[in-house]
Amino acid sequence: MRTVKNRNYIGGEWVDPATGEYFENRNPANRDDLIGVWPMSGAADVDRAVEAAVDGFKRWRSTPAPERGALLKRVGDLLEERKEEIARAATREMGKVLLETRGDVQEGIDTAYYAATEGRRLFGHTVPSELRQKWAMSYRRPIGPAGLVTPFNFPMAIPTWKMFPALVCGNSVILKPAEDVPHTATLLVQILIDAGIPPGVVNLVHGLGEQAGAALVAHPDVPVVSFTGSTETGRAIGRTCGEMHKRLSLEMGGKNAQIVMDDADMDLAIDGVLWGAFGTTGQRCTATSRLLLQDGIHDAFLDRLLVRTAALRLGDGLRDGVDVGPLINESALQKVEAYIAIGRSEAELRIGGRLASDDGLEDGFFFEPTIFSEVAPGSRMAIEEIFGPVLSVIRFHDVDEAFFINNEVSYGLSSSLYTRDTNVAFRAFAELDNGLTYINAPTIGAEAHLPFGGVKQTGNGHREGGWEVYEFYSETKVCYVDYSGSLQRAQIDNYDAGPY
Ligand code: NAD
Repeated sequence: MRTVKNRNYIGGEWVDPATGEYFENRNPANRDDLIGVWPMSGAADVDRAVEAAVDGFKRWRSTPAPERGALLKRVGDLLEERKEEIARAATREMGKVLLETRGDVQEGIDTAYYAATEGRRLFGHTVPSELRQKWAMSYRRPIGPAGLVTPFNFPMAIPTWKMFPALVCGNSVILKPAEDVPHTATLLVQILIDAGIPPGVVNLVHGLGEQAGAALVAHPDVPVVSFTGSTETGRAIGRTCGEMHKRLSLEMGGKNAQIVMDDADMDLAIDGVLWGAFGTTGQRCTATSRLLLQDGIHDAFLDRLLVRTAALRLGDGLRDGVDVGPLINESALQKVEAYIAIGRSEAELRIGGRLASDDGLEDGFFFEPTIFSEVAPGSRMAIEEIFGPVLSVIRFHDVDEAFFINNEVSYGLSSSLYTRDTNVAFRAFAELDNGLTYINAPTIGAEAHLPFGGVKQTGNGHREGGWEVYEFYSETKVCYVDYSGSLQRAQIDNYDAGPY
């Protein structure tokens, strides 16, 4: 069969990479399934895309924001129409089960419709001036071409979280998606084209992070950069952007805990941890990677959890009845295997810990859902991000200890608490050092219309989603109009030579 050769999208055209090189995109559930090849772009391709985006920005910034929003409405409609097709393509290249990729696309739809209405808001402030016959107000201006660098685990949702608000605010964009999921990004850009995005406003450059990604981040004509991915990559990007004084949003790793108190609804908490730990094969930034169990329920909870975990079905995410798909690639598998060795030396392996050996799974990156118990707070299994189907169970005595353990990691994305005690729940909001805290719900499940992000090593203070992201993609401009016809001096006239 002929291999499908894909292209970059630059300045309104699908174009071959200047490098002439391509990388393969294979199905992680079946490595024999070659989806196609995509451009291995280099700095020259990025230069070309940025030049197009500078041009596109000139046109797009003067398009009224409600009109920009109307385009996003059409994008939402097209995503809705093509939801199933995109979800299937996303599962094929990324591995997570179809139910989850449908959710991934739905998040894109929600983000599009939110962005569409934001085109009629983008509020500024009008405030009283301290001087007579003078107006004082602020409004939001676009910034310029935005460089968007995205990870593999939400191939639709994360690019849309960045791209749609950036566009509504009047910026042009250059997207560099993760090299594991180029097909979903290609389908997304095709939808923008079909919705009528003008040339140069949306540009897509495929390639490896160290090449295309690094060139985009360091490009002097890209004043705003938004990155989601590992903390290590984020640190490197932070250095570049810091030196160049760029506006930068970083969303990075996590080591999220679900805390279960003795008084919790045990069935509910077990459903929560199964979904949180093994959904997306543990490859969510908000995945439940630590389970903190209070003494009184620890043993009974763990016994029941092991039974439920053993019943999870691994397989190709496109097949009915499958709960857990493959890991994304060989290096993810190696990383998980390295942590299994660490776990064996630090704690007790209770289930899993090996490659899946069932028939039909040998051609994919399938790893059994794994649980370690007796994990000591502060040990490597308790504090390092694994990004796979591996859960560390930690025992605690009281709520103070649980909160201490939750906070004893360098990350701060999500946390979850199962309890019937309202006082403990409200303490958790105040005392858990995370950007998100869920009560009686798992660590995953963010909604598109609320701000999303983490504290400590997870983020750098910005948020995606909701209303806050619109501030990231625009600059506040303050405007004064003095219609008094005389020189009025702020901070002086009202005091030293004041009118009173
Ligand atoms: P990654 O850091 O390996 O790659 C992310 C993106 O950065 C890819 O597009 C990659 O090509 C690019 N990249 C890599 N090196 C680069 C460089 N030097 N310069 C510029 N770009 C570069 O991450 P991943 O493996 O795709 O995703 C997994 C990580 O993402 C996990 O740590 C996870 O917690 C994190 N994540 C965080 C969030 C969040 O919102 N906090 C959401 C999803 C994933």
